[in-house]
Amino acid sequence: MFHTSHIEISKSAYKKNIKYLRKLVGDHTVISSVIKGNAYGHGVENIVPLAEENGLSHFSVFSASEALQVCKVKSHKSDVMIMGLLDDEEIEWAIVNDVEFYVFDTERLDKAIETAKKLNKRARLHIEVETGFHRTGFHYNYMPELLEKLKNNFEHFTFEGLCTHFAGAESIANYVRIREQISQYRKFYRYFQRHDLLPLRKHTACSAAVLTYPTTIMDLVRVGIAQYGFWPSPETQMFRFRKDTQDENPLRRLISWKSRVMVVKEVEAGEFIGYGSSYLANKKMKIAIVPVGYSNGFSRSLSNMGRVLIRGKRVSVIGTVTMNTMTVNVSDIPNVERGDEVVIIGKQNRMNISVASFSEMSNQLNYQTLTRIPADIPRYMVK
Ligand SMILES: *Cc1c(COP(=O)(O)O)cnc(C)c1O
Repeated sequence: MFHTSHIEISKSAYKKNIKYLRKLVGDHTVISSVIKGNAYGHGVENIVPLAEENGLSHFSVFSASEALQVCKVKSHKSDVMIMGLLDDEEIEWAIVNDVEFYVFDTERLDKAIETAKKLNKRARLHIEVETGFHRTGFHYNYMPELLEKLKNNFEHFTFEGLCTHFAGAESIANYVRIREQISQYRKFYRYFQRHDLLPLRKHTACSAAVLTYPTTIMDLVRVGIAQYGFWPSPETQMFRFRKDTQDENPLRRLISWKSRVMVVKEVEAGEFIGYGSSYLANKKMKIAIVPVGYSNGFSRSLSNMGRVLIRGKRVSVIGTVTMNTMTVNVSDIPNVERGDEVVIIGKQNRMNISVASFSEMSNQLNYQTLTRIPADIPRYMVK
């Protein structure tokens, strides 16, 4: 082994999550597996085949380079959709490879139509509309012009989807804004309806919307964080637990992150541990060095704060997290030795370190913590 830590991905947890999501959205809604950000840190090459095994065949990414990654591992029956960045040259690649993509401005629309004409192949377009998020999307005022362009170029595209994205459906503070977005979306849809131009699929929902705004579940849902077993926020979890009156969490984390003890040693009372003077041993201590630091995705803000599991016990990070190591206090673990398993995220015996607790300690969102785990740490599939 030439790595200082590794990640395990649980197939049975994924299966459970998809089963729960399927129950929520029903049998007729396509679940698009959102796998941007290296599948939220889980690895595109791991999640695509796993999603396919669980009956999914639609994938959403941010950019063309991510779409290319998916194309290399997906079955030919599955579809990929680019929701964000696409250069002019990449539009040609997308059309040639049947990759679906968002259009949200005139430049991209014109380029897509021009390229489709040149290639004599239809572009698979999702029209994104601006309902209040103010990131990307066509404004309502532009509809007449958009409609004319689409009607004049009917044979050069398929209208795969009419879509929008919510500005924080996971937080109750945004309730009014989300309701307004839903009604704006309907206004756009009715406009297309009046002009006899209907999308194959309507889609608006991300995980939080699926969980808390059932009316946003349309022909397709774009599910990211929930498929990996995380609630988008504590309030979405509360809402669902109550509604489903379940005693067991229906979402289960896929990921565990593990390393091994590199060195065990003793430190005398009165010595500082690690760089600088942030930790002073006030008695004789036993410490362990773990070969995972901030360059490996273990945030420096966890200095003197983080916790890991060794021999079934929760132990504290002491001193500063360095680029490649952290030091933990193992004074209370009698037989600890080099090579012992260290759990950074996950379970050991009956103890557990959740991504959320890890995130709270380091002041990050689950999303951020996950996507910051470096792509080069090996990931293994487990049962
Ligand atoms: C990331 C993203 C999603 C998925 O969001 P989750 O909260 O992870 O489910 C859906 N739609 C768009 C446009 C996105 O960018």
